[in-house]
Amino acid sequence: MSNRRNFLKYSGLVAGSIIIPSTISASGNIASGKVKSRKPAGMKLRFRPYDLQLKHVFTIANNSRTTTPVMLTEIEYDGLIGYGEASMPPYLGESHKTATEFLSKVDLSSFSDPFALEDIIEYLDNIAIGNYAAKAAVDIALHDLVGKIVKQPWHKLWGLNRDKTPNTSFTIGIDTPEVVKEKVHEADVYKILKVKLGRENDKEMIKTIRSVTNKPICVDVNQGWKDKQMALDMIQWLATQGVVFVEQPMSKLAVDDIAWLTQNSPLPIIGDEAVQTLHDVAAANKVYSGINIKLMKCGGMRNAWKMANMAKIMGMKVMIGCMTETSCAISAAAQLSPLADWADLDGNLLISNDIYNGVQVVDGKVTLSDLPGIGIRLK
Ligand code: MG
Repeated sequence: MSNRRNFLKYSGLVAGSIIIPSTISASGNIASGKVKSRKPAGMKLRFRPYDLQLKHVFTIANNSRTTTPVMLTEIEYDGLIGYGEASMPPYLGESHKTATEFLSKVDLSSFSDPFALEDIIEYLDNIAIGNYAAKAAVDIALHDLVGKIVKQPWHKLWGLNRDKTPNTSFTIGIDTPEVVKEKVHEADVYKILKVKLGRENDKEMIKTIRSVTNKPICVDVNQGWKDKQMALDMIQWLATQGVVFVEQPMSKLAVDDIAWLTQNSPLPIIGDEAVQTLHDVAAANKVYSGINIKLMKCGGMRNAWKMANMAKIMGMKVMIGCMTETSCAISAAAQLSPLADWADLDGNLLISNDIYNGVQVVDGKVTLSDLPGIGIRLK
């Protein structure tokens, strides 16, 4: 009986000692019940189309281009602005037109809590299927806003050690030997090079690079090889040339052939085109050694974070990749990079009209700052 009385007494004391504030303001300050609370208005989304100018004509296995359309977004809330971006290389099927259509339907004014990321992302998913880059543009701006509200960068909110960011690779596009050599010299600061293969001159490309540098090379075939035995022969040769891994060697639909390649390959095989969203990660297990996560494929930082953790739990390698993007989307992806085995975050370095300052590459390494949110400022 006395035990029960003590329990009630102490539990009463504890309950009595909890102070329940009437409001917690967006800046994180606890306002006392006596002060009249000010409820911020709902979030406001703005967006505008922009064209990124590429420094070099960009050629991969099946196309060439000189610009990339992007959509720049801002979410304003309680005097703060979060920045976001959708990058839409044509082969992914999104454009200024589709992003405008999608973003015009997004009304965030009914959400009074920017921290309700799950609810807001579910709301975006219910507006329309697909549109992953447009969704990422909202997701990134929302993450930037939330980080600014709590005055912390996302790598810290995720509990990641910024000393563990990987080196980023720098992409050398398919070109004539003279231009390839010039690009390798331009990439002097980078510790790892990335090469796009999947054409007739694959060995020539590697030999040209090897004639000027001994740096490790990542190979991306963009589904370019058609025959699994030929692919294995090539990978075995690449393994003798200081190549680190091979990304998407064959069509994403050639699942059995790729699983066979992965089993027999001396190098890790990474899925990119085959792994778009969270739902593709489980299917990629046992087919690929690892996955290339890109914010524009999966709908933004929240899904990318889930994909990275899911892949790690299944024992797969994680690569963080990008499209040609401004420092906005690159800095957002970089927040996740301490979790990655490899980073390919050079998209902002391939353009000549970036409007943000963000994550820096120092001595080849992705280097995160203490700036809140995704860590960018307008130039
Ligand atoms: Mg790729």
